[in-house]
Amino acid sequence: MKYPVYERFYTWQGEGVHLGAAAYFIRLYGCPQACPWCDSAGTWHRDYRPEGVTLMSAHDLAEVVRAESPAGAMVVITGGEPILFDLAPLTDALHALGRRVHLETSGIAPLRGELDWVTLSPKPFGTWPTPEVVARADEVKIIVHDVSDIQAGLETLDGLRGEAVIWLHPEWSRARERDMTVLNAITDTVKRHPRLRAGYQMHKLYRADDLDPSSDKRLIPLGGNTELGY
Ligand code: SF4
Repeated sequence: MKYPVYERFYTWQGEGVHLGAAAYFIRLYGCPQACPWCDSAGTWHRDYRPEGVTLMSAHDLAEVVRAESPAGAMVVITGGEPILFDLAPLTDALHALGRRVHLETSGIAPLRGELDWVTLSPKPFGTWPTPEVVARADEVKIIVHDVSDIQAGLETLDGLRGEAVIWLHPEWSRARERDMTVLNAITDTVKRHPRLRAGYQMHKLYRADDLDPSSDKRLIPLGGNTELGY
């Protein structure tokens, strides 16, 4: 099989437990969730579809990862919604290189492939994650655009393991504009519930992803654009 690759680039992980670690990102095309503030709208929104999407086999992707990043750099498979694809051939090929393989997903379909780390970002206004993915998740990112998103996100996590880390991330437009209603709500919630952690998308401050010539440089409005309906 071949995977639709929207973009791929070598950078570092900008959020979550592995913040700051060197990482090669493989962003697959396609997502049905249609989040109103999506920051990867080029993977699904009609106004931002790329002219073409490269189809690549697991073997070819692994060769690119080997050529474009040093041993020891982990690989993050993201999207879009990568769980829609059978990831087993890809995770096998990347493990054959000796790489750790991480997945970022909203968890809406069965997991296929051996993952070393699963980051679940539930979308309570869309399709909820399956119980299987919730039970497998190593960390959770709840995106907080409005204060009510905190409780809505937590309600999708029935069956989450006790050791899984739960992050509350300000949605990027809220973080960028220093929306203190959202930021203070995250602070207050973390202080009342010490299992939760306050998060941030550090790579966006550094613009680290942009340094790789293969990353998508188009001006897709981060944090959404209400005039365009998302
Ligand atoms: S799940 Fe992720 S890629 Fe899909 S629309 Fe939402 S933010 Fe965008």
